[in-house]
Amino acid sequence: MCTNAPTILLGGWGNYPLAECRLHRPGTLATLKKISPLHENGHLIARGLGRSYGDPAINASHNVVLTDALDNLIHFDRDSHIVEAQAGVSLQTLLDVFMPRGYFLPVTPGTKFVTLGGAIAADVHGKNHHRDGSMVSFIIDLQLLTASGEVLICSRDENREVFWATVGGMGLTGIILSARLKLLPVATAYVTVDYHKAANLDEALEQFDTGDAQYQYSVAWIDCLASGASMGRSVIMQGNHATMNDLSERQRENPLAPRRGRALPMPCHAPGWALNPLSVKLFNAAFYRKHKNGRKVEHYDPFFYPLDGVNDWNRLYGRRGLIQYQPVLPRETSRTALVALLELLTRSKRASFLAVLKSYGPQNDGMLSFPLAGHTLALDLPYTGRALLELIEAMDRIVLEHGGRLYLAKDACMSRATFEAGYPRLAEFKQLCRQLDPRGKFSSSQSRRLGITEAIA
Ligand SMILES: Cc1cc2nc3c(=O)[nH]c(=O)nc-3n(C[C@H](O)[C@H](O)[C@H](O)COP(=O)(O)OP(=O)(O)OC[C@H]3O[C@@H](n4cnc5c(N)ncnc54)[C@H](O)[C@@H]3O)c2cc1C
Repeated sequence: MCTNAPTILLGGWGNYPLAECRLHRPGTLATLKKISPLHENGHLIARGLGRSYGDPAINASHNVVLTDALDNLIHFDRDSHIVEAQAGVSLQTLLDVFMPRGYFLPVTPGTKFVTLGGAIAADVHGKNHHRDGSMVSFIIDLQLLTASGEVLICSRDENREVFWATVGGMGLTGIILSARLKLLPVATAYVTVDYHKAANLDEALEQFDTGDAQYQYSVAWIDCLASGASMGRSVIMQGNHATMNDLSERQRENPLAPRRGRALPMPCHAPGWALNPLSVKLFNAAFYRKHKNGRKVEHYDPFFYPLDGVNDWNRLYGRRGLIQYQPVLPRETSRTALVALLELLTRSKRASFLAVLKSYGPQNDGMLSFPLAGHTLALDLPYTGRALLELIEAMDRIVLEHGGRLYLAKDACMSRATFEAGYPRLAEFKQLCRQLDPRGKFSSSQSRRLGITEAIA
C-alpha cells in the first residue's frame, strides 16, 4: 500500500458520508501510470472535482486519485468541432476557451465545476436530454487506463463493451485519461427563455408534453411544499440558443462573452436550522410570485448554472450536509409516482430547498447510464440522520413500484436491493469489470456498499 499519500477526510458535494481516504494527485500522465495502488495490492477510484453528492468519488481506507491536474486541451478540429482533452479538464475551462470561438457544450449538468472524466463516468445529462440525450451522445471516443496498466481506446466501434460500461460506469472500469467531444456551434452566448407558470403538477407535465418539441432546453423548478390543488406548482423554463437578432444592443457588443460576474462566497457552514420548512416555504412562495410568464434573453451562465453563483453553496446545509435524491420514473407511471413522492414529502414536513423536474428522452446503451424516457425529480434534503434515511427508504419503495431508478451520481444511501431492481444490466456490467479487473483494484465506497464490487477484507 502507498506510504507517502496523505490521508484526509473526504466527502462528495453533499458532505455525507465522509471517509478517511488516501489521496493521490498525479501532475502528469507518466506519474499517474506509476501510482502505487495500480501496481501493488491497493484499491483506487478516480475523482474529478468531487461534484457527485454521495460516495462514488470516495474510498474509505483506500485510495482516491485526483485527476484535476491532468487537464490539458490536446487538439481541436474546426471542421468537425471535435475537441480532444485530458479527462481532468473542467467544463468551465472548455466554456472559457470555446465560447468566445462560438462553441457551447453539447450537454451540461447544472454546474460547470465538473471534469470531462466525471461527466463521462456519470454520463451526465442536462436540460436537453429530451432532445439530445446524455453526454455520451457527443463522445467520439475515450482513452481508458485499465487495471492491467493497458490503455484502451474505446468507442462505439472499438472496445465497444468497455465503452458502454465506462459511460455511466462511475470509474469502475478504470481511469479515463482523455476523450474526444463534439462541441455545439452557437451564434451567441445567450438563450431565449420562455417562462411558464404551472398551477400544479398536471399543468407542469402538460407544459413539458406540449412545449418540449419546440425547445432544446426544458426544466421546471417545483415548489415541493405546495399541497392540495397547488401540489407541484412550478415555474417552467424552456429555451433555445439565441441568435444575434434576439440580443439587445448591449448584448450584441460582446455576443460570445463566456462568463459574467464573480461568484459570491459562502465562507462557512450555515447553522443546521437555517434551512427549515418555514424558510423554504417563504423562499418558494417568493420565487413563484417573482416569476412572470413571458420571454427573457439570458446569458447562458445564470440559465445553466444558477447555483454556481455562490461558491461552496453546499455549506448552506450545515456541517451534517445533504442528500440529493434523484429518481427517474418512466413516462407511463411518472405522474402517479410524482404525486406519491410529493405527498410523502409534504406529509413528512421536510423541505427541499431545491426541487427540479426534467423530462428525459430514450435511454442509451450505457450499462449503468441513468436516464430513461420519463421524468426525473431532484430534491436536496438536509441530512438529519435516521429520520431522513427512513423517509428515503419510503421514497425508494415508491420509485421501485413505479419502475424507476435512482441516479448513482447523487446516491449516498441506496440499498443493494433498490439498486439491483433499477439497473437490469448490472450483471453484464459486473462481468465486464471482472474481466478487465480480476483483482478488483477499482472500487469506491459506493461500489462496495451497492455490491457492484466485492467487499474488501
Ligand atoms: C450543483 C450541481 C448540479 C448538478 N447537476 C447535474 C445535472 O443537471 N445532471 C447530471 O447528470 N449531473 C448533475 N450533477 C452531478 C455531476 O454532474 C456529476 O456527479 C459529475 O460526475 C461530477 O463530476 P466530477 O468531475 O466532479 O466527478 P466526481 O464527483 O469527482 O466523480 C464522479 C464519478 O466519476 C468518476 N470519475 C471522475 N473522474 C474520472 C476519470 N477521469 N476516470 C474515470 N472515472 C472518473 C468517479 O470515480 C466517480 O465515480 C450536479 C452536481 C452538482 C453539484
